[in-house]
Amino acid sequence: MTKTLPSAVSSPSFDDGAHDKGHLETLYAYKAMLDASIDCIKILSPDGRVINMNQSGCTALGVDPLSGFGMEWLPLLPEEIRKPGRKALQKARSGENAQFLGKSINELGEITFWDNLLTPVHNEQGVVSSILCVSRNVTQQCSAETKLRHLSEFDELTNIPNRRHFQSYLKKALRIAKATRQSVTLLHADLDHFKLLNDTRGSLFGDHILKVVAKRLIKKLSGQGYVARLSSDEFAIIVSQTVSTEEINQLAQNIINAIAKPISHNGQSVRLSMSIGTATWPYSVENSEMLTKAANVALSEIKQNGRGGVLQYHSQLMKSVTRIAEQLELAQYAIDHHKIEPYYQPKVRLNDGQLVGLEALLRFTTPTGELAYPGAIWAAFENRSLVEKIGEQMRTRVFEDIKTWTEKGLTLVPVSFNASPVEFMWDDYAEKCLAQIAHYGIDPRLIEIEITEHMIVGHGAEFVVRAIKELRKQGIRIALDDFGTGYSTLSNIKDYSVDVIKVDRSFVSSLHQGREGKAIIKALLLLANCLGMDVVAEGVEEQEQCDTLINEGYLIGQGFLFSPAVSNAKIKKLLESDLVSD
Ligand code: C2E
Ligand code: CA
Ligand code: CA
Repeated sequence: MTKTLPSAVSSPSFDDGAHDKGHLETLYAYKAMLDASIDCIKILSPDGRVINMNQSGCTALGVDPLSGFGMEWLPLLPEEIRKPGRKALQKARSGENAQFLGKSINELGEITFWDNLLTPVHNEQGVVSSILCVSRNVTQQCSAETKLRHLSEFDELTNIPNRRHFQSYLKKALRIAKATRQSVTLLHADLDHFKLLNDTRGSLFGDHILKVVAKRLIKKLSGQGYVARLSSDEFAIIVSQTVSTEEINQLAQNIINAIAKPISHNGQSVRLSMSIGTATWPYSVENSEMLTKAANVALSEIKQNGRGGVLQYHSQLMKSVTRIAEQLELAQYAIDHHKIEPYYQPKVRLNDGQLVGLEALLRFTTPTGELAYPGAIWAAFENRSLVEKIGEQMRTRVFEDIKTWTEKGLTLVPVSFNASPVEFMWDDYAEKCLAQIAHYGIDPRLIEIEITEHMIVGHGAEFVVRAIKELRKQGIRIALDDFGTGYSTLSNIKDYSVDVIKVDRSFVSSLHQGREGKAIIKALLLLANCLGMDVVAEGVEEQEQCDTLINEGYLIGQGFLFSPAVSNAKIKKLLESDLVSD
């Protein structure tokens, strides 16, 4: 929209002075009106000089109203907005309306925001003879808007950008990278077992941890990247310059090390580990839309494999994600339809095949009616809520079976079942088990729980150790499963309060490899004997292995040579006969 102003107001200083009285009155009326406005109103010449300005304008720009004007307008503006000012002036000079946001700072440092609207004024010949510039103080709107934007784009707790800001930042970073042929790397980071800490130590402690983690991330990146909090304990880091895989891994490792330092609050202290999945456009993913998904997939993969550390995305991972999703779905099906049942594998006395114990192993029927093994739902053993339900259903079935055997007057042998590390994370594993055992009226001395070594040395070990103590107090035996494959050293095994070690089947199968295989088998038995622990050799498949084990002094074994895991019905028969092999 263009305007035509009365010539007396639009160009008083260029007037020839021959006004009649009426004309002057009109002029004063206009001036009084303009002065009364709180908007800053200026009339500029097309070459950018101030022809006239109302009182508010003079105050805002610090110009003496009696100066007669004629000075250049742009130098009156703060330096940083002269560029948009110049652009707007050019636009208005060419006959178009122009607008820009300006800012002024007074001596007290107070900032005022101005919405500047430049409207060209045409003379009778249609030429731009002056420009009307109206500047409105929009400070209040601006600060409200800024505050709102901050609230909607920044995380309240840590004061770093949130998921919304992250998404628009990533888009921008990718756009720039495409134009400049740079790459963009996304690091998707997640604190390990944070939810557990939050549940057990309280949300105030959890909040403190998150604030410290955000600070450490920013400090570690020190300008090399952008960091946002995506959700509870998930953070994203964007590195938008081209760097090598090694440099990214190094950066991720530095972050992990920084996070691993103890965090204290109100006399409590914790050490945290972090898992980071990374993906780089255009190297590890060709499609930029896949970047977020890819980093997330890499992160999930680390979490599946025991947590902690860095993993760079590669296309094979996407397949593993699909596989995990299928496994979780299958496990959920088995739980919901009560398809889980224990099969029992005998433990036998090696020299005469006498049944001395049973290990309950999970089996379930698939939607198509086939019998399936734990390997088909491996991912579910890492999932807190699924594994809890699986454990619960397995124990219920095992205890029901033991109760039936007892009622039938069969000669009972101890029965063991397996527990996953994740099952201990609620810190009530022992209490739940003991309550169930009491409910079924089972003698606790008949129960053995098999745990693996990394459960007592890994993350969350304190919960496992506490549970073991509680269970043993009530007479339940604890077996260390797959012994020799984990993290423990022969010297620290004495610190574990366990009753039995189950020598992993890999050692039994390496017996035929001559001296070395035998040496390990020997050493493990010696160690267990010194510590007063029972020993079970796992995975005995051949008579020759059995003979060697007997020669080395082993008493008990388990394996396909004697029997695979079989159904409750078959076990009942076995308990009646008391012998596994003749
Ligand atoms: P595990 O506790 O080491 O159980 C022994 C596994 O080795 C079983 O596999 C068993 O069928 C197999 N096996 C037994 N004898 C032999 C042998 O002579 N040769 C060979 N090659 N294999 C033998 P399965 O039933 O597939 O179970 C695999 C793993 O799944 C178990 O390893 C255990 O860690 C886990 N698992 C089984 N049931 C449960 C459960 O109810 N809860 C939990 N948390 N884990 C379970
Ligand atoms: Ca086992
Ligand atoms: Ca085992």
